[in-house]
This record gives sequence, structure tokens and C-alpha cells, in this order.
Amino acid sequence: MTQERKKVPVFYVPFRPIYRRGIACHWFILIRSKYSGDLNLLHHEEIHCAQMRNVGLLKYLWRYYTDKRFVAEVEYAAFKYGSKYNDRRIKHILEHNYNVPIDVIEEVVG
Ligand SMILES: [Zn+2]
Repeated sequence: MTQERKKVPVFYVPFRPIYRRGIACHWFILIRSKYSGDLNLLHHEEIHCAQMRNVGLLKYLWRYYTDKRFVAEVEYAAFKYGSKYNDRRIKHILEHNYNVPIDVIEEVVG
């Protein structure tokens, strides 16, 4: 999965976009204003924008909501190369925040 970042317009909003700190939507990024100084979060979402461009937005969204392995792949890349988290922390987040089965996490992260 892509590790490059895609620069797109960023909008800072006073609410949690879809219950998260930030979301990517192919052409733009929404980030809750209280996290406006969090460059790791911005870079994480920029990687998701590049992934959406590479996969295609509809296919990306379909796979994101139907395929836990795909979730593990795209989030692993975004957390590792965007947020700069280590593998141990990413595994924990994938299991507890994204409900990815541990065997799938082991396949993707190693
Ligand atoms: Zn993400």
C-alpha cells in the first residue's frame, strides 16, 4: 500500500469528523481544530488521500467497510509512514480501535 503523501486542502472543523480526530476524503481532509498542530495526524490523512487516489474512492470505501485485511493494510501504511508509530503501537490500535482480527494483523504487520 502506498507510503507517499498527497497534499490536498485541509479544513479545520470544531467537531469530530465521523467520531474521529480527522478524516481523508480523496480531494480534501477534515481535522478537528483542536488537533490543528498535529503534523503526524495530517501526514496520516495525506497518505489516506494518496491511497484513495490510487485505489479509486468508491472501491476504497467499499473495501474499507467490507475487508478487515484492507483496513489493516491502509491503516498500517498511514500509521507507520504518516503518524510514525512503531509496529507494536500500530498492532494495538488495529486490534482495539479498528477491530482487525489478530491473525490478519500478524499477516499484514508481521
Ligand atoms: Zn487512518
